[in-house]
Amino acid sequence: MGIATVNPTTGETIQVFEPLTEAALERKLTLAQQTFEQYRRTSLAQRSQWLNAAADILDADKEMFGKILTLEMGKTLTSAIAEVEKCALVCRYYAEHAAEFLADVPAETEATSSFVRYQPLGAILAVMPWNFPFWQVFRFAAPALMAGNVGLLKHASNVPQSALAIEAIFQRAGFPSGAFQTLLIGADKVAAIVADDRVKAATLTGSEPAGASLAAIAGKQIKKVVLELGGSDPFIVLPSADLDTAVATAVAARMLSNGQSCIAAKRFIVASSIYDEFATRLVERYRALKVGDPFLPDTDIGPLATPGILSELHQQVQSAVQQGARVLIGGTPLDRPGNFYPPTILADIPIDSDAAQEELFGPVAMLFRVATIDDAIGLANSTPFGLGASAWTTHAAEQEQLINEIDAGAVFINSMVKSDPRLPFGGIKRSGFGRELGLQGIHEFVNIKTVWVK
Ligand code: NAP
Repeated sequence: MGIATVNPTTGETIQVFEPLTEAALERKLTLAQQTFEQYRRTSLAQRSQWLNAAADILDADKEMFGKILTLEMGKTLTSAIAEVEKCALVCRYYAEHAAEFLADVPAETEATSSFVRYQPLGAILAVMPWNFPFWQVFRFAAPALMAGNVGLLKHASNVPQSALAIEAIFQRAGFPSGAFQTLLIGADKVAAIVADDRVKAATLTGSEPAGASLAAIAGKQIKKVVLELGGSDPFIVLPSADLDTAVATAVAARMLSNGQSCIAAKRFIVASSIYDEFATRLVERYRALKVGDPFLPDTDIGPLATPGILSELHQQVQSAVQQGARVLIGGTPLDRPGNFYPPTILADIPIDSDAAQEELFGPVAMLFRVATIDDAIGLANSTPFGLGASAWTTHAAEQEQLINEIDAGAVFINSMVKSDPRLPFGGIKRSGFGRELGLQGIHEFVNIKTVWVK
C-alpha cells in the first residue's frame, strides 16, 4: 500500500501519500544539518518556551489530533485524546527540567576546575511505530530538542497524517523549520539515512527485525542507537493480591491501544489457589467489553491497525490451540468489515509452545497457573523479552523478591506497567537497550564531555 491512511474500522483507503523524492530528502538532510549549527546555540530558555508552546497546541487541539490517531490506527477516541494530553505533559516536563538535567556536573580533582558538560550530537533519526503515533514521537522529540539536537522522523507508513501533524506542531510552536522534520519515506530508505554523515545517531521503536537491522547499520557506522522493541510482559498474581483490583487492572493492562502495546500485560501468571477465581472473573470482564467503532464513546476495543496484524495474531492463536492451548473466550476474527479481533483468553498453554515465547500484539491474554513465587518468576523470565512486569502481592518479602529477580526494564508492584515522563523507560534482553524519559532519557543523545581546566 505504500504510505497511506487506511481506516482500520472500514478498510477504506482515505489518502495515499507520495514518498519524498531523493532530491527532497537530500534537501531535508541538508536543512537538518544547517539548522543544527544555529539551533545548538539557542538558549535552554528559548527551547523551553518553544516546547511549552508545543504543549499548548497539543492541549488546545487534542480532539482534532485524537481524531487523526483514531482514523489512522483505530484506537478509541477517548484513549487517543489521552495520548495527546500525555504528549503535552512530556513537553512541559522537559521544558521545566532540562536545565537541571543538562547542567554541568562538577568533579573534585587536582584541576582548577573539572566537570562534565552535556552537549548535543546533531541530527537524530527516529524510526517510529504506529501503535502510539504521537506519544512514541514526543517522548523522543521533547528531550532530544531540549538537549539541542534536531530530529528527523521516519514514522510508520500507516500513520502519515500523524507524522505530518507532529511536524506542523513543532513549526507552529516556533521551532526553526529544520529542527524537527518528518520524512515520508519507506523503511527501505532508513539504511542510507543512518549511514549519512549528517545524521549522528538513531532511535527505533518497533519490532525486533527492524531494530536488529537498524542497529547493524549503525554499528557499522559507529553511531549511537537506542532500541525500544517488543515485549511479552508478565502480570503475576499471588494469593495475597487484592483480586478485584488485579482483575480490573489486568483487563486495562492487556487492552492498551486495542491490545497493541509493547508494555501491555500479555502473560497472566496466577498462583494456583486463586487461579480459577481469577480466570472466571477475567472471562466475565472480557465478555462485557464492547468491540466496535473506535469513534463511539462507549466502545472499549476498536479494530487492529492493519489486516496484516490481524492475520498474524489469528495465526498465532490458531497455532497455540494446535499446540494444546484452550480458548476460554474469543479466538475467531469478527465477521464484519475492518480489522476486528475479539477479546480472547487462552489457557493451558504449553510452556514450550510458540505462543509462550512470542509477543501477541492484540487483545489476547494468556493464562498460566503456577504453584510458587519461584515458579512465577521462572516463567516470567522464560521469554527472550525483558520490557516490563507487573506483580500483585501485599507481602513485603515477596515484593522485594519480585523486584530483585524479574529480568525486565521495569517492575510495577500492585499497578500496571506504564510510561511516565518522570521515570526512565526501556528494556533489556531482546526488548532493546537504552532509555527514554526521565533524567536518563535526555542523556541518551548527548556528548558527555569531560572538561579539565588548569
Ligand atoms: P515495525 O514493523 O518494526 O515498524 C516500526 C517502524 O520501523 C516503522 O516506522 C517501520 O516502517 C520501520 N521499519 C520496519 N522495518 C524496518 C527495517 N528493516 N529497517 C528500518 N526501519 C524499519 O514494528 P510494528 O510491528 O509495526 O510495531 C509493533 C512493534 O513495536 C511491537 O513489537 C511492539 O512491541 C514494538 N513497540 C515497542 C515499544 C517500546 O517502547 N519498547 C513501543 C511500541 C511498540 P514501515 O511502517 O514503513 O514499515
